[in-house]
Amino acid sequence: MRHADTIASVATGMTDAGIGIIRISGDKAVTCAEQITERPLSGLHPNSIRFNRILDHTGRVTDEVLVSVLRAPHSYTGEDTVEINTHGGRLVMESVLARLLEAGKGSVRLAEPGEFTKRAFLNGRIDLTMAEAVQDIICAKTTFAIQNAAAQLGGALASQIRDMREKLLHESAFIEAALDDPDVYEKALVSYGETLSSVTDAVQKQIRGLLDGYDEGILRKDGISCAIIGPPNAGKSTLLNILAQADRAIVTDIPGTTRDVIEETVRIGEVLLRLQDTAGIRTSPDAVEQIGIARAKERAQQAELVLLVLDVCDMPEENARELMPFIEGKRCVVLLNKTDLVPPGVAEHMKDKLKEQYGEALPVISVSFLCGTGTEEIKQTLERMYFSGTLVEKEDVFLTNLRQKESLLEANESLNRVKDAIRDGVSEDLFVSDLMDAYAALGRITGDEIEDDLADKIFASFCLGK
Ligand code: GDP
Repeated sequence: MRHADTIASVATGMTDAGIGIIRISGDKAVTCAEQITERPLSGLHPNSIRFNRILDHTGRVTDEVLVSVLRAPHSYTGEDTVEINTHGGRLVMESVLARLLEAGKGSVRLAEPGEFTKRAFLNGRIDLTMAEAVQDIICAKTTFAIQNAAAQLGGALASQIRDMREKLLHESAFIEAALDDPDVYEKALVSYGETLSSVTDAVQKQIRGLLDGYDEGILRKDGISCAIIGPPNAGKSTLLNILAQADRAIVTDIPGTTRDVIEETVRIGEVLLRLQDTAGIRTSPDAVEQIGIARAKERAQQAELVLLVLDVCDMPEENARELMPFIEGKRCVVLLNKTDLVPPGVAEHMKDKLKEQYGEALPVISVSFLCGTGTEEIKQTLERMYFSGTLVEKEDVFLTNLRQKESLLEANESLNRVKDAIRDGVSEDLFVSDLMDAYAALGRITGDEIEDDLADKIFASFCLGK
């Protein structure tokens, strides 16, 4: 254990709820906690939970609680830990925490954000990929994000990284030994280039496998930036409202930094969309057309996905012709809206015409936002478009972390240099350092090789109490 001081914090959300948990971790967790409990804790069986009361400095009862005592190393942090389950009112949680810090002055201090998880990492209970997965689970907005983070927490990514590192270490150990004792290894070194090439190929294949999943992983985890564009009155804001209401619980308003752009994050099935509100077009249908189109163009060009809304009754072909050039090269779904106003054949005919003009691959969906038809098809189309793979095996994991991606890229670069050296017939002692650079870069992913300031930076982004 690398830490002696004891830390405490509210581990649950600071909102009024049924219960709240105050977590205390460190050598003095039990002795500090029992200074504010009515009954002693020292004699409790480890890993048990018992009824107790919290007393204020005059001996009055502040709250009735359940207290669990977890003994090192069998706790989240790997240290002695006490968790006090108070009632979940903000004031009561704050009072119990304040009382604890006051009674344990000099022995216990307030935890920094992410400090419990940092201790779990520093105490070797989890590696860095697992620590980051904890934060991902807390912030997850889709089932995928939870499953992926849970796989990572279970060691799915760490085991792949470890496997690659072992292969590289084995080879560099062989080279070092061969260089130390060339007589013994002379024969083996003759065709060693081929062996090493096949090992670096195998490792680079593993790296590519992880990197290939990154974009999809990010889209699934953080959402797809999506612009709704179309001519005035086509139904863009109606669509926005429908989608925003589809899952009110996770709709978030994120004020943008420029021009009051509002982003609404909505979930459609497993697809998380960060919708770009094209308020300018919506609220100014009779403004100079060029301004509206310029704004639509800008939104569309920044977005990963464009939902092009056309009114089936209002020159859809002409409007498509005008807007399509702005979204060239973008993923796009055309929503042919207001189909409730025309006989079914008309919408089908228009759909065929658009596909004929812009290609079979372009998804065109007949919808009526007013009647709510077509939303299921939108969901299915988006899921098909973005999510080819699923997490079927326990060890499957998508990379969703930029830090991890950059380390993989670094490792890949170093291995490219190794391969170049082998091809150029450079002697082994000159590229063993590249091999070890790759080994180190991979080690930074799991945290086996990490500088303190980087660990501090990573854990500082965690929430309080975690
Ligand atoms: P925007 O200018 O593209 O944002 O269009 P709005 O969402 O403001 O919609 C323009 C008008 O079309 C409003 O009166 C909506 O109620 C109406 N509208 C939207 N969707 C439908 C639909 O599916 N069917 C019908 N009949 N009207 C619709």
